[in-house]
Amino acid sequence: MARINKVLVVGGGTAGWLVACYLARAMRSSDPSGIQVHLVEAENIGLLGVGEATFPSIRGTLAAIGLDERRFLDGAHATYKQGIDYRHWVRPPGVSGRGSFFHPFSLPSQRPGGPELLPYWLLGEAPSGLSFAEAVTMQSRVVEHARAPKRPQDPDYQGPLNHAYHFDAACFARVLAEHGTQTLGVHRHVATVERAELDERGAIARLITTELGPMTADLYVDCTGLRSHLAGGAMQSPFLSRADVLFADRAMAMQVPYDRPDAPIPSYTIATAQEAGWTWDIGLQQRRGVGYVYSSRHTDDARAEQVLRGYLGNAAEGLTPLRIRFETGYRPEHWRHNCVAVGLAGGFVEPLESTGIALVELGAYLLTHALPADLDDLPRIARHYNTMMVARYERIIDFIKLHYCLSQRRDTGFWRDNTAASSIPQTLQDKLALWRYRPPHRLDFVGDLEMFLVASWQYVLYGMEFHTDLTPMRRTYTQAAEARREFATIQQVAARALDDLPDHRALVERMVHEHRARAGRAHAVA
Ligand code: FAD
Repeated sequence: MARINKVLVVGGGTAGWLVACYLARAMRSSDPSGIQVHLVEAENIGLLGVGEATFPSIRGTLAAIGLDERRFLDGAHATYKQGIDYRHWVRPPGVSGRGSFFHPFSLPSQRPGGPELLPYWLLGEAPSGLSFAEAVTMQSRVVEHARAPKRPQDPDYQGPLNHAYHFDAACFARVLAEHGTQTLGVHRHVATVERAELDERGAIARLITTELGPMTADLYVDCTGLRSHLAGGAMQSPFLSRADVLFADRAMAMQVPYDRPDAPIPSYTIATAQEAGWTWDIGLQQRRGVGYVYSSRHTDDARAEQVLRGYLGNAAEGLTPLRIRFETGYRPEHWRHNCVAVGLAGGFVEPLESTGIALVELGAYLLTHALPADLDDLPRIARHYNTMMVARYERIIDFIKLHYCLSQRRDTGFWRDNTAASSIPQTLQDKLALWRYRPPHRLDFVGDLEMFLVASWQYVLYGMEFHTDLTPMRRTYTQAAEARREFATIQQVAARALDDLPDHRALVERMVHEHRARAGRAHAVA
């Protein structure tokens, strides 16, 4: 039996360092003399530098690699994220009616034995004027009042409200690199991979680097970003475009200073619909990260820059945007022979709902738990890995498309084209047909293959004013009085939570301060 003894990760962005840390931590705890993890990164090829918003799964991943939360917050300039505020997605500005909605990370409240609240909200039993998210969780109120999702005394990565983080991508990679090399035993090499030499079966025999000559391993992880140097290059694994469904293929990003040092930091991403896409607006500790994601079929770069500058106003003065090209799609064979692509090298779904890093986490998890494998088993393991990844991509694409195809905006070609049936996957059309008569249920989904739970579908569907007609079924919903009491309780609990949860900026500053004080003490003792 030939075991995998050495893994070489190529690329030192978020994907490369997350995979290296995850693998190294798992290998250390299971077998200290086990698989060696090496990472090679080019000094002269930068990271993408965007990818600042995450998904709640990141908490489990950071806890699993043993990174202290305060150290992470300080090093990555991170803040908390409790959801996404979708502005002008339902209708454009100036048209009467609610144009916006909030997608919170916390699940709808459901008391054990109590009624599921969604049908009663649909039947008009919630206090009038409350959106679905406002009626069933306190998170909308909490973020409106600039409160954090946790208190300083809560354990690392835990708190009363579900959350993720915003961070500076380059700083995050640096924190992971320090943690990986200093604590987890990842071997770091600085070199540019020029090419891969293949053996007679088509597997990678060795990589040739400019600075360090040949490098070998039993398994190669391609984390070279959109270049996809190994998976797309040497292994020629084809890319399946899904640009027919999700049109955005360009981004323009700026790092924007706050207008004053104590400006409130929103603990949510602001995603504002624009004429040919949407802008993201993310609050970090020292600056905002703002960008416009757009479709080059529906606008041009000059107009896109005008839109981004228009969004930012004076704050954009003197700033030059970073320009990025991408395409929604993926390599159905992420894993071929002894090479597996993780991160942008394997694929990407446009950044709405921040699935890029979550897919990296998933890749790191599936890869790590497939090892230690017999080298002869790699083809079977690769097939399984690819099946798992393809299913996730397709489910994510349906969910992202939901945001576009339900919009009532018809003001530009971009929004009109997004509602064309030919651009909506059949799987999504089928679900929408069903949900006209009853709300989504968890059994409509294939369990753990879904990145987004039924609650997220419900928040987006009803935030976008999707119509589910429950009136013919009204008589079957017999717990209206209980549901009304439950709606009232949620509002009372939300009011109390505002006293209990700290201000978001104050919490972040306190956590950073505590980390520095601890690090200073450790330094003094040493
Ligand atoms: P990169 O960051 O590009 O890193 C590539 C690494 O490979 C670098 O270290 C480089 O030096 C190295 N490299 C390249 N070639 C070689 C070579 N030949 N030899 C040696 N080293 C090499 N995801 C989210 O989760 N949330 C978001 O909000 C989000 N926003 C995004 C917005 C946009 C516009 C885009 C395009 C993506 C966004 N993503 C987001 C995706 C996210 O950016 C990526 O998933 C994440 O940054 C991982 O990138 P990566 O590590 O795969 O690639």
